Amino acid sequence: MCVDFEKISADITVRHYDWLEVKQLLNSLSKWDKQGETMGERLQTEDVKDLIRKALGARTKAYAPYSHYQVGAALLSGQGRVYPGCNVENASYGAAICAERTAFVRAVQEGEREFRAIAIVGGLEGEEPKDYAYPCGICRQVMQEFCGPDFEVITAVSEDDYEIHPLKEMLPWGFGGEKLK
Ligand SMILES: [Zn+2]
Repeated sequence: MCVDFEKISADITVRHYDWLEVKQLLNSLSKWDKQGETMGERLQTEDVKDLIRKALGARTKAYAPYSHYQVGAALLSGQGRVYPGCNVENASYGAAICAERTAFVRAVQEGEREFRAIAIVGGLEGEEPKDYAYPCGICRQVMQEFCGPDFEVITAVSEDDYEIHPLKEMLPWGFGGEKLK
């Protein structure tokens, strides 16, 4: 994640910002962490690692006797609570639920409605994760229901090997409830 100064300067060149926009732009730039690693409101590295640890822990509970692909997730709510989830498969395959949605369902049941980030890990049974487990389309849609465009989706192999993508990257042009009002 980085500030795209070239794009900003190009935007300034091609059109006029009004003063409010300039103030918003300066405000967002002032949040830029001087260490270059995180934006002001983005998760700190230690928080990311903690979520990944919890996702790895949740993965040990996965019930995946059919695919043998075990997934764990850890969902951080706006209140600062973490909800773990694992995939739960079924002999009727369509009844399976992903780790990410398990975590969301648990959190919503507890009254949570706002979320900051989710960490996801996955890999074959009996093995450590080898590559990133990206959320499926249905889980991205569930994220869209409750999360803003900057909700952070952390896909990890380990605490030291991960990617972070905002939801707007994971599900561009997503369909949301505002269309139904
Ligand atoms: Zn899914």
